Amino acid sequence: MPKVKSKEKKVKKPGKEKEIIKKERVIDSESDKIAKGSKKTPQILRGFKDILPGEQKYWDLLRKKIEQITLDYSFERIDPPLLEETGLFSRSIGKETDIVGKEMFSFIDKGEENISLRPEATAQIARAYISHGMFNLPQPVKLYYVGPMFRYDRPQSGRYRQFNQFGCEVFGDMHPVIDAQIVILTYNFLKELGIPTTVQINSIGCNNCRKEYKVQLVNYYKTQKQDLCEDCKERLGKNPLRLLDCKEEKCVAIKEDAPQIIDFLCDECKNHFVKVLEFLDELEIPYNLNAHLVRGLDYYTKTVFEVWAENEEKKGQNALGGGGRYDGMVEMLGGRATPAVGVSLGLERIILKIKELNLPVPEKEKRDLFVGQLGEASKRKTLKLYETLRAEGLKVAECFAKDGLKSQLEIANKLGVKYTLILGQKEMSEGTIILRDMEAGVQETINYNKVIKEVKKRLEM
Ligand code: AMP
Repeated sequence: MPKVKSKEKKVKKPGKEKEIIKKERVIDSESDKIAKGSKKTPQILRGFKDILPGEQKYWDLLRKKIEQITLDYSFERIDPPLLEETGLFSRSIGKETDIVGKEMFSFIDKGEENISLRPEATAQIARAYISHGMFNLPQPVKLYYVGPMFRYDRPQSGRYRQFNQFGCEVFGDMHPVIDAQIVILTYNFLKELGIPTTVQINSIGCNNCRKEYKVQLVNYYKTQKQDLCEDCKERLGKNPLRLLDCKEEKCVAIKEDAPQIIDFLCDECKNHFVKVLEFLDELEIPYNLNAHLVRGLDYYTKTVFEVWAENEEKKGQNALGGGGRYDGMVEMLGGRATPAVGVSLGLERIILKIKELNLPVPEKEKRDLFVGQLGEASKRKTLKLYETLRAEGLKVAECFAKDGLKSQLEIANKLGVKYTLILGQKEMSEGTIILRDMEAGVQETINYNKVIKEVKKRLEM
């Protein structure tokens, strides 16, 4: 993309002597290498990737699994846009979080609006819940989404600047069974794909129980201030809960002895958490009580959780997914008070895991029939035949770009079709067509007018 710069331009207003400054957005032609006719091939942006045909079988598998599991748990799909007002994310996720503070792709559009590519979708879905009056629907409202998110993260394995998430959100019910079911859905989604995981779970209480906890947390961290990373020194003054998210080795060590929020929970939050765990016990979902799990976003209340691939407990930063309850968000965005709970899973990370574990992935559906042709007149006739066969529901393939029979048969073999039809000069004049059984290597000549019936008979259709 060419760089866009703001350029100040002095303009005289008609009828007035006063000069006003008009900001004009101009394309920086220095970096617009393509327009300049440069021979340099444009490169893909750092942290972005093309999902090539060879990768698609993994995405097909995930798409199918998502469709099935959301149907099983009665979620309906929602597709919010990729761009939103920046304020939606800064208000809900929190200004002091890494996501909003460092990682958003934000810019001023032509209407001078401050907008951002979505770094996550939960805030958007809450916005949609309010703007479409979904509180008038029977509650709870259960929605799911799949699509790309954008974060200016440091690219590395399993960490991209554009990545895809599948997420589920439930609005309008505060019962702990809903929290538990979100965890169960997440766990089962991964288990059914063949990925064993453990659930890391904690409660970060409500605003009331967090007040005293924050005081104690700050007191503890003040005694360690000299050993904290620069970011954490700042977090200490601005948003102490974020101290527990830091991945710097020295800060992780300091976290070990930090006070635990669980000791500060009010009765309501404690009971809620105990009930969530009881429901998980009922289904024998394996979980670890992770006392320092707070998640990197400000909007959570009560339950928070992450799913880690088994044996990766120490590399917690590679969570496959995570979520929790966010009872305050809808009201904070201007809606009526609505409890909510959700989860989001990173699809690229799940695919990496599927590859690492060598899990079986279904191949693309095979074709049954190949249509071969010889000569221009045959090309015309088989082009039409191909469409007729396809309309009849046959799984058919072709290579009209090739003329030679040998190369066409090679392609038919590669595709693993059961039969190949061949129409040459002789068959054209006789009103016949050759039907070749690819496995047996034998062929017979059949009446052209009966080709559909004959093929269907052999394919037992
Ligand atoms: P979060 O919204 O940060 O809770 O992330 C939920 C899940 O999305 C994570 O557990 C990851 O699987 C995935 N994820 C988050 N950030 C990235 C990223 N930069 N690249 C790839 N996957 C990511």
